Amino acid sequence: MSKKLFWLLPIACLLLAAIIAAVAPLSENAQSRAAAEIAPVTDAWRAALPHDPVAATQAYMSRISPAAKARSDAYFEGGYWLQAISFAISLASYWAILSSRVLVRLRERMEKRNRRRWLISLLSFASFIILCAAFNSPLDFYQGYYREHLYGLANQGFSSWFIDFFIALAINSIGLSLVLLAVYAVIRKLPKTWWIWGAAIGIGFLCLLMLISPTYIDPLFNTYKPLADEKVKQPILSMARSNGVPADNVYQFDASKQSNRVSANVSGIFGTAAVRLNDNLLNRSSLPEIKAVMGHELGHYVLNHVYHFIFSFGLILLLGFVFVQHGMAYSLKRWGNRLGIRDQADPASLPLFFALFATYLFVMTPVLNTVIRNAETEADIFGVNTSQEPDGFAEAHLKLTEYRKSDPGPVEEFLFYDHPSPRKRIYTAMRWKAEHLQPELKPQ
Ligand SMILES: [Zn+2]
Repeated sequence: MSKKLFWLLPIACLLLAAIIAAVAPLSENAQSRAAAEIAPVTDAWRAALPHDPVAATQAYMSRISPAAKARSDAYFEGGYWLQAISFAISLASYWAILSSRVLVRLRERMEKRNRRRWLISLLSFASFIILCAAFNSPLDFYQGYYREHLYGLANQGFSSWFIDFFIALAINSIGLSLVLLAVYAVIRKLPKTWWIWGAAIGIGFLCLLMLISPTYIDPLFNTYKPLADEKVKQPILSMARSNGVPADNVYQFDASKQSNRVSANVSGIFGTAAVRLNDNLLNRSSLPEIKAVMGHELGHYVLNHVYHFIFSFGLILLLGFVFVQHGMAYSLKRWGNRLGIRDQADPASLPLFFALFATYLFVMTPVLNTVIRNAETEADIFGVNTSQEPDGFAEAHLKLTEYRKSDPGPVEEFLFYDHPSPRKRIYTAMRWKAEHLQPELKPQ
């Protein structure tokens, strides 16, 4: 690809992104409308539910209006296509950067000026990341801003959204550049076994991120403050204490700034625990629903899911680097000269590294989803056990059908779902309820 044509591409992409932002359909706060699309019920309705868990689950599912179901199905299924489109755009941008030799020229120019090797690498990586951000900007703006408003899921105006987007991009770029600097240093020093040390660097960085995120990164996007409402706080702390979670406070944050989505988390690693829930959960949910959601989040902590993830993702990363190692060796032997890339340690090889790794991750998507989904299933069971609020749990997951397809087929769920489907989650709660409604079976 010629130099001139190449530079037109990122500029055209940025222009397209600006147009997408300008024509986005700004949605009003969609909270009241969304709530109206799930038929409200009383405690008497819940008390009169059939004991059979399948029938009780169906009673919950029937409360989603056909219009709401059609919209959330369309929103979620559109996400499948977006994953494929995002992958295709990434591959195309890596190819454009490789074939234009823009990183090769940058490296040659810096070498002529006798710049230090780490500086050449760092500037190459930063340039690559900025170029990729420009290429991805139309899809990012469409998916993150335009589409969220189109489906009435966002509350944020453009300037506020863009500031969040830019902060996230800046943090990701700095973090990724530093990780790549370390990985490429290892590729240079230990070209045969770099994939082992590279995976170790990746895992180390993941741990660091989890350690510093609650204190240093999350507050860049939202305001966190201690939960004032004692009637909500005490039951949550009681569940935490009864399960040995070392937390003495609960925090709330203003997620309504961005969207109406209900969310919470109990994060922490190496003995730290932060119990946090968002204002949407507080404002849109009853106490039984809040308890059920927080029970689920405490489950992630008690069941040590963070360590399971580190192990699983570490293994997936290790396999990915083995694939990249072999893929790079093969590609450079065939096309290295033509692309101007010397060897695997050449920072100009980065687009090739990314193309191979992105292909691997794309193929592994169902595996990654299944690792996460299995942990979510465990946390669901823990949550309903510890909160003892099966109807609160079902109500909360009925709300999540605003943005998650409620009733997928089994193959669809396996491929695309990183959480169990809403129908399965409601069934989990109704199954628990059915077993606990039979007093003769209860332990004396
Ligand atoms: Zn979860």
